[in-house]
Amino acid sequence: DEEDVNPSVSPQGSVLGSWGNKKWGDTASYVAKKKLQSWFQTSDGNWELAKIISISGSESLISFSEGKVLKVKSDSLLPANPEILDGVDDLMQLSYLNEPSVLYNLQYRYDRDMIYSKAGPVLVAINPFKKIPLYGSDYIEAYKSKSVDSPHVYAIADTAIREMIRDEVNQSIVISGESGAGKTETAKIAMQYLAALGGGSGIEYEILKTNPILEAFGNAKTSRNNNSSRFGKLIEIHFSETGKISGAKIQTFLLEKSRVVQCTEGERSYHSFYQLCAGAPPSLREKLNLKSAHEYKYLQQSTCYSINGVDDAEEFRVVVEALDAVHVSKENQENAFAMLAAVLWLGNVTFSIFDNENHVEPVIDEALLNVAKLIGCEVDDLKLALSTRKMKVGNDIIVQKLTLAQAIDTRDALAKSVYSCLFDWLVEQINKSLAVGKRRTGRSISILDIYGFESFDVNSFEQFCINYANERLQQHFNRHLFKLEQEEYIQDGIDWAKVEFEDNQDCLNLFEKKPLGLLTLLDEESTFPNGTDMTFAAKLKQHLKTNSCFRGERGKAFTVHHYAGEVMYDTSGFLEKNRDLLHLDSIQLLSSCTCELPQAFASNLLSSSEKPVLGPLHKSGGADSQKLSVVTKFKGQLFQLMQRLESTTPHFIRCIKPNNSQSPGIYHQGLVLQQLRCCGVLEVVRISRSGFPTRMSHQKFARRYGFLLLEHVVILDPLSVSVAILHQFDILPEMYQIGYTKLFFRTGQIGKLEDTRNRT
Ligand code: ATP
Ligand code: MG
Repeated sequence: DEEDVNPSVSPQGSVLGSWGNKKWGDTASYVAKKKLQSWFQTSDGNWELAKIISISGSESLISFSEGKVLKVKSDSLLPANPEILDGVDDLMQLSYLNEPSVLYNLQYRYDRDMIYSKAGPVLVAINPFKKIPLYGSDYIEAYKSKSVDSPHVYAIADTAIREMIRDEVNQSIVISGESGAGKTETAKIAMQYLAALGGGSGIEYEILKTNPILEAFGNAKTSRNNNSSRFGKLIEIHFSETGKISGAKIQTFLLEKSRVVQCTEGERSYHSFYQLCAGAPPSLREKLNLKSAHEYKYLQQSTCYSINGVDDAEEFRVVVEALDAVHVSKENQENAFAMLAAVLWLGNVTFSIFDNENHVEPVIDEALLNVAKLIGCEVDDLKLALSTRKMKVGNDIIVQKLTLAQAIDTRDALAKSVYSCLFDWLVEQINKSLAVGKRRTGRSISILDIYGFESFDVNSFEQFCINYANERLQQHFNRHLFKLEQEEYIQDGIDWAKVEFEDNQDCLNLFEKKPLGLLTLLDEESTFPNGTDMTFAAKLKQHLKTNSCFRGERGKAFTVHHYAGEVMYDTSGFLEKNRDLLHLDSIQLLSSCTCELPQAFASNLLSSSEKPVLGPLHKSGGADSQKLSVVTKFKGQLFQLMQRLESTTPHFIRCIKPNNSQSPGIYHQGLVLQQLRCCGVLEVVRISRSGFPTRMSHQKFARRYGFLLLEHVVILDPLSVSVAILHQFDILPEMYQIGYTKLFFRTGQIGKLEDTRNRT
């Protein structure tokens, strides 16, 4: 009976069609015929299990567990997996790999606090939003001794350590997922495991202590996550020949500076500000002239000052302890806190208007005096820097007075700059403390915790950069997973025609191509004195309209077709954010300060502006500092990151957020599905399965299905038993391959054997 062949895979073995749910017609009739369990999509979009009672023509009568009976079109049904596959720990084991089956399997596990699953080579982690007893020394011990093998971050970290030692190749753990999905927590869990296995020298304690510091200065409460990282992070942990941790190095990416000076209702600025205001001891409070958080304008923009369940004063003590641990001296700690206070006071600086708004001067009040004192400059110099700009006209320097809007911009730019310099400076201090002697030892494990793909109602410059980074990471992901898969076939000696896969090179080209790519056009427009967001958008439409990944939209918007979906970007603010100008007057002010940190910041700012990418065209600014544009710098960082990752054996973890309310026990199918699609998990399983995804050793196969043999032949070796089973069941030759150690099956084949086994 030829129709008995499970049609979830075409004879060519391509399962491409099976993902578009519409193309399941054949399978549905198969399922209907066999009266198997199937999935029915209810009007709210959720999938429910149903049993087929009868079929007439193209319609089926189905019943649900609660007794309800419904007549539906047969081709609206998708096959469900046999119960034996409920909650399998690797999605690749599913016989039917449709979306409801994947969602159901993950939910089945999630409901039982099994938040980790494998999707082929990828670890999927679903945020539990509650404490689950899966961590700690007993679990670490169990994974170390390999007495458990269920999917876990520990298992990934363990594999990384083993492969690092065995192959002497650097490893990486790449963690992705959207905001609130659990990337940072997952990274910490991986670090814990590495610290436990590679500990001994004490440096592991320091490494773990970098987390509270970076979270204090780089995380904030957002509408999506109470502890949202506003920067990307790569931590490279180095090991000695004996497998002990010898040091570490942290690199950060693209801190969200705008949060320092503006923040939306319900969100907060960086934790560090609230922690300082709540937790500074009296002597420090007096020295920095600290007030409560409510007194500072930058923090007043949102009425949110505290986070449920978080004690900022206590957190302050945790951060100080961590700073001690990474050897930041008490004096330097105080210097750093002074910078935080200076930023807060800067926000309170106001201006009085002269000449009908033609120019302004800062009001000499507590705020201005405190800023001058905290950074160590003359009040008059501060006043000038905030209200005037020096311009070069021919050989003369003239002084231009700033309008109110310009003065506010200048003040805010200074605040943002001081904060991001402070962040970089802290990272530098940490790196000094954790310094590794030689680099590129072949014995390091890098953990990447970077923002996932973002698509909101309104998408701006930040999403543009983040999604560009994700395109690069996705390419890395694709290439790697293909390679791995194909290597296994070759190792086991099976016939294997190389699988081509759809890569995202076209979209990357859209960003990177010179001279007419998104990044170059953005930089070019950013250098034109008369460039605006509107002229930028117009230029994109003019030059990129024929690109298949690009679509011009009305007004200032454009759409990019990303691997994870289409995103419409609004160009408002693109040029300004890309230029990220800090006027030379402000840098000069910082370098004139008597305090150590502002001076260090100034020299950093000057050295990072050596390459005058935006330089020659800043004529209007004259004496402005020349610096790399934000996207150019980001692209450089990204290339360097990719290069580093390419030289490692990667391990991927995809974090999933099961609901938008940060609550335990709630699993929104639609939300999970959207993330699985976005982060390419479904794609990976599909790709992995387009080959021979089901593998079983000859022994196991013979044991499990041998009793189904009709002829009672006396065959002893497992391979011969296996071959006899394959023949008896008429499994088409293109549906399997016999390797040296394993049988490789196309998708769905084991399901058929399982059905027979269960009926017997
Ligand atoms: P962002 O991109 O905004 O930085 P993220 O992916 O880093 O988000 P996390 O900050 O790691 O998200 O996680 C958000 C919250 O989810 C955590 O503060 C914690 O409450 C909870 N959480 C995440 N993972 C776990 C876990 N394994 N166990 C318990 N709670 C968790
Ligand atoms: Mg995070």
